[in-house]
Amino acid sequence: MDEKVVGFLRRVYREYYFNHRNQIEIPSKISSREFGYIPFGGGMIRHLSFKSAGELAAELVRQAPSSVYCSNAMYEHPTLQMDEKGWLGADLIFDIDADSIPTPCKEKHNWWFCNSCRKGGMGIKPGKCPYCKAPTPEQVHWSCRECLGATKDHIRRLTDFLVDDFGVNSQHIQIYFSGNRGYHASVHDERFEKADPAMRSELANYIRGTGLNLKVIPQEAQTYRSPGWGRKVGLYVDARRETPMRRTQKLVDEIVIANAALIDESVTTDVHRVFRMPGTLHGNSGMLKMRVDSLDSFDPQRHPVVLGSETIAVHIDYSPEFFLNGRRFGPYDSSDVTVPTYAAVYLLARGFGGIAG
Ligand SMILES: [Zn+2]
Ligand SMILES: [Zn+2]
Repeated sequence: MDEKVVGFLRRVYREYYFNHRNQIEIPSKISSREFGYIPFGGGMIRHLSFKSAGELAAELVRQAPSSVYCSNAMYEHPTLQMDEKGWLGADLIFDIDADSIPTPCKEKHNWWFCNSCRKGGMGIKPGKCPYCKAPTPEQVHWSCRECLGATKDHIRRLTDFLVDDFGVNSQHIQIYFSGNRGYHASVHDERFEKADPAMRSELANYIRGTGLNLKVIPQEAQTYRSPGWGRKVGLYVDARRETPMRRTQKLVDEIVIANAALIDESVTTDVHRVFRMPGTLHGNSGMLKMRVDSLDSFDPQRHPVVLGSETIAVHIDYSPEFFLNGRRFGPYDSSDVTVPTYAAVYLLARGFGGIAG
């Protein structure tokens, strides 16, 4: 990323934080949280602490970072090294990314980019760049309405597990769009605060249906009135009028695919994570990590687009088409174009172009 691009992105992000400081969602128990951020063109800075919302907002305006994070954990001393922090507990968090949901559209919109010669192409990345022979083209995961919709379905599955099987009050589950290609959920329920990684891993495995075994669920607990996975098995089998004789591994696999929520286990299991802060801009897209109160009406290609529409002239090395704010952009192949700021940031923050001229 060249200096002109870094300067442009910092200016846009700084202006956003200056004008929207009230939209940064301040975590509960702010003084017990660890904060971190990634500057444009730099590495992660962690172990920070803020006493108030105002202090945090002022720092975001000053630094205009690419990404901002806050710990799901609470600590006695959030600024010390990990083993000296004094862990007090952590919110239960979930991440579901469009990349991890198998959808047929991926074949159509996956593409690759060569950082050496700055050319690209559609499909799975070649072993070496066909243009300059560099050995490391980068696979780029793109998303579309279809895979973003599938991700939304998995978030619904997750909340059903939390409410139906773990007794979480749905008011205590907060859903967010991640600002890029997925959704996050935070659970504020004291019963899980002290849970260690092993227990969180069991929760994650349950929700992913990992190792589901019908032999340990008695047949009479596989009906629509049963709790947990038994109910999902009952409903699935009823719908297909399967006889008990045919409860094979293939059937188990089908039931898991139809019901599991494909959460990222490593996020849920980590009790020392710094997690993207709600109300901040994603460093790779310029879109907002935002609270989603109604999944049905939320449009991930429109509502999180919060940067301005003033146009800017850019040179885009390569990009397939994409949709933002109800508009179609691209495809671009070594193109000089004038686009709204939000679309320029979407491509330049990922390193796919530069400022024109
Ligand atoms: Zn190349
Ligand atoms: Zn897709």
